[in-house]
Amino acid sequence: MEDFEVICPACNETNTIAAEDYQELTENDVLECDSCGAYLEVVSLDPLEVLVVEDREGFFVDCPRCETAIEADEPGEPVTCPECGYTFAPDWSDIGEEEEESKW
Ligand SMILES: [Zn+2]
Ligand SMILES: [Zn+2]
Repeated sequence: MEDFEVICPACNETNTIAAEDYQELTENDVLECDSCGAYLEVVSLDPLEVLVVEDREGFFVDCPRCETAIEADEPGEPVTCPECGYTFAPDWSDIGEEEEESKW
């Protein structure tokens, strides 16, 4: 299997994506640049294209109902899941410790 490469638009460094990770990618997934830490949103899979996501400070929460990762841009506010419509109040104190689980 071949690895995939994607150029980070923010720093122009090449990020390598293992073939098995590529297979799990879907559009709108967000990668983190190995070099500069920018968040890169997948806008196309074939060919692989990404856009830099501005001001994304890691405010991602998982919907307790359907486990969709939701971008929450107002910490402290309740979040409504775009997938299932469930509204909940995230535990903001947990946010910021999620970087460790990155599989990249
Ligand atoms: Zn970068
Ligand atoms: Zn949901």
